[in-house]
Amino acid sequence: MKTHDSLQIVSDKSPQTGEFSAKKIRETIIQLRRLVGKENVLTDKAELVCYSYDATCYSRLPDAVIFPDNSGEVSKIMRLANKKRIPVTPRGAGTSLSGGPVPANAGIVVVLARMNRILEFDEDNLTVTCEAGLALRDLNKFLRKKGFHFPIDPGSSEAATLGGMMGENASGMHSPKYGRTQDRVLSLDAVLPTGEIIQVGSRCFKCASGYNLKELFIGSEGTLGIVTKATLRVAPIPDNYVVVVASFKTAIEAGRAISKVVKKGVPISALEFMDKHAIDVVRSFTGLPLPHAAALLLIECLGSKNEVQSNLGKLVRIFRTEGSFEVKTSRNREEADQLWYARKATYGAISRIRPTAIQGDPVVPVSRLPEYLARLDSISKKYSVQIVSYGHAADGNLHPTVMVDERNPKEMSNARMALAEIYRSALKLGGTLTGEHGIGAEKHEYFNLEWSDKVIAVMKEIKAVLDPNNIMNPGKWI
Ligand SMILES: Cc1cc2nc3c(=O)[nH]c(=O)nc-3n(C[C@H](O)[C@H](O)[C@H](O)COP(=O)(O)OP(=O)(O)OC[C@H]3O[C@@H](n4cnc5c(N)ncnc54)[C@H](O)[C@@H]3O)c2cc1C
Repeated sequence: MKTHDSLQIVSDKSPQTGEFSAKKIRETIIQLRRLVGKENVLTDKAELVCYSYDATCYSRLPDAVIFPDNSGEVSKIMRLANKKRIPVTPRGAGTSLSGGPVPANAGIVVVLARMNRILEFDEDNLTVTCEAGLALRDLNKFLRKKGFHFPIDPGSSEAATLGGMMGENASGMHSPKYGRTQDRVLSLDAVLPTGEIIQVGSRCFKCASGYNLKELFIGSEGTLGIVTKATLRVAPIPDNYVVVVASFKTAIEAGRAISKVVKKGVPISALEFMDKHAIDVVRSFTGLPLPHAAALLLIECLGSKNEVQSNLGKLVRIFRTEGSFEVKTSRNREEADQLWYARKATYGAISRIRPTAIQGDPVVPVSRLPEYLARLDSISKKYSVQIVSYGHAADGNLHPTVMVDERNPKEMSNARMALAEIYRSALKLGGTLTGEHGIGAEKHEYFNLEWSDKVIAVMKEIKAVLDPNNIMNPGKWI
């Protein structure tokens, strides 16, 4: 099993060696089986392994994995776990890039895979209400038949679930046009660690009534409760979109061009950055004719033909002024979709470079991107580690990915130092540790660099009110 020797906060020892006794666990498992049926509780070690990791290197075996069918069952599981003080970790598809669904203190992993129903589609009000275990792919399959989509578009859109997207406040390629998960979730149902079920937010497009508790759950990484249901705002599928590929001889020039596009307010629906390492490996992996360049930008414009033409003109002028040596435009929808496929393939493709990819998620103000890209280059040289960079550039959100071999202690030690500097540099430029992947286990050691003691104390107080016995996803950043 994979472990992450340098960033490890979780151990891979027998889960029953934790602070709760084997007897207590055995009794709880019997009760869980009574609650949801024996076939919906896993305890066999070989099966538990499948729920012990995510897309990072962290892993920890849970004591049991449970698949509830509805909010009532989730509520009963929570009451039981709370009474017995057993940790509960919610899990969607396990694609998190921060260790979020890995049960740091073992206990029960609650998987929402059976809670994947679409409950109501309200076309007049552009909303859909679904259970949180629904995969984004399946929601969009349903919506596309009706001419709509849920436009939050993470690279993991084929697997991620709505619960996991809310847990991490996921976003992705199309955030310049459609925002982040928090912008598209209107209301949600959450089961608190004490078993109560609350509904927060409103199905209306606006709600200024009291504290914004909906936002408190979005991005809370399963530390406050389990979201079981949500009403989401959908969007019509655009008729017409074009993707521009602008190639640059240096990453810094590309960074300046990104900053200029944002500053000039050119209406774009996506703007992605890929560095040379990413371009080369994706070209060889997908066979698509990506340019030979030190950096490229993929920019999408959508709207009527006239709007798209006018915006393309503005973009081409900016790219030429900022030093792009080639600007190409997709000729049809198929070509545009192939370019998005290439971009989405990046994380998978880079595993060809080195066995271990440790992906960062810092955000900097867009105007500081050129400086930050230069900094990433010097960090790579300073610690002799390859850093592949790509990401959602219009938001200033990059994924500098340190490529190493986790079996090599020297490389891992260098990677740890490089990552620390990647995060510190982003904070120094006025940025934040994470734009969309969350803190989880991966960035908890940097959390107090971003927030003051008082802010962290307020977060802990909020957590204690909702989760007095600290059973929800304990052992992470809070
Ligand atoms: C190839 C690849 C590309 C990716 N690209 C992007 C991207 O472009 N943008 C982006 O934002 N992310 C991206 N990710 C990260 C990841 O896919 C997202 O964070 C996704 O939202 C996680 O969904 P999931 O269902 O896999 O959740 P999980 O990984 O299972 O869980 C994520 C977190 O949410 C919590 N959680 C899960 N379900 C619930 C629930 N019902 N209630 C409360 N808490 C819950 C978990 O405890 C955990 O802390 C990528 C990952 C991969 C592997």
